[in-house]
Parts: sequence; C-alpha cells; structure tokens
Amino acid sequence: MLLEDREKVLVLFSGGIDSTTLLYLAKKYFKEVYALSFDYGQRHRVELKYAKEIAKELKVKEHIVVEIPHYKLIKGSALLDESLEIPKEEYKDEPPVTTVPARNLVFLSIASSFADAYSIKTIGIGVHALDVPYPDCRPEFISAIESAINCSSLLTAREKVRVRVWAPFLGMTKKDIVKIGRELGIDYSKTYSCYMGTEPPCGECPTCKQREEALKA
Ligand SMILES: [Zn+2]
Repeated sequence: MLLEDREKVLVLFSGGIDSTTLLYLAKKYFKEVYALSFDYGQRHRVELKYAKEIAKELKVKEHIVVEIPHYKLIKGSALLDESLEIPKEEYKDEPPVTTVPARNLVFLSIASSFADAYSIKTIGIGVHALDVPYPDCRPEFISAIESAINCSSLLTAREKVRVRVWAPFLGMTKKDIVKIGRELGIDYSKTYSCYMGTEPPCGECPTCKQREEALKA
C-alpha cells in the first residue's frame, strides 16, 4: 500500500463492515486516526450508535459526527424516505433506489474542510467493487474528487502538499475486505449494515445479504 504520509488520517466511518475495516487499517498505518460520521436523516441512523462504540473501543483521536440537514428535503431515495421500499433483490448495474444523491461528494467535501482545519493529508473512504452501481463510489469519482479537493484545499495552497483520498478497497469485494479485517482481528458482530435500520438487522435487504455472504466466506 503506497502511503506517502503516515501522520494523520480522517476516515469516513459509518460503523459498517467496510469503513470499520478501513478504520482498523488506518490504526495500523497512521499515527493519528480521526473518524467522521454523518447523521443525514438515513433511515438506518442506528448505525451511528455502533460507530460510536467502535470508535471508542479503537481509541481514535476524535470521532466527529456531522449533521447534514439538506437531505430531508430530497425525495426519491429509499435510504432517506421510509415510505419507499428497500428492494430485496441484489443491486444490478443501474444506480438503485437506495442511492442518496451525491452522498460521497457531500461527505468528502465536508471531510476536506476538517482535513484543512486539522492539517490532515489523507482522507479514507471504504468504497469497493460491489458499490459500483452507485456513481459516487466509482474509481473515476474518487480520482475526480481528489483533484477537486486539491484545487480547493488550504493545505495544498499553503504547504504545497497533496491531499490524498485513500480508497484501498477499490476493486475489492466485501469478501476480500472481511479477509483483511479478520487478519486485523475485527469482531464484525459489533458492526451494523442493515438499510432497514432495524435491531436486529432485517436479514433481507441487499446490504444484509451482502454482509451475510461476506461473513460466511
Ligand atoms: Zn437489512
């Protein structure tokens, strides 16, 4: 893994399998780890409770939770609107109804504000190959947003350094991620993935199925 800077990292962290694995990887590679979670009106906002516990247990330097209010004005996403049904079938190639418009664009923009304010040169995100139906999880988005962040970054302007968007799971499946996580000793029962937001998880939504498949591998 090519990482020029190993001082500080800010990880986008939902409390699910992917971002939890990334947070553990970050603890292994970086001196100071910050976690950033979002309360954006997601129907599964119970995930934040799991995220807080994991962040505490991992002793991250700081766990920042940001509220994003504008998503309550956005219609048409089953992750934001409980009157819409979460599909039971797996995602195809098209962006699914669970897409939250421009979510990673918004998340990474907010992350870049904190990166500037905290002098953090690496922003971690756990997107992977099974996320590609979501346009803002694709490799071309990740490299484009990295360029955009560097065009607007104070750190880049002042210190002539490059801010990295660290997405080590691009091209990997969830099974690959779980394999890495098991080597890192992660207890995945402490993570949460269900899009329905129920406790216990519904076991039927696409994320529950993906999760089950990856964990039994
Ligand atoms: Zn579920």
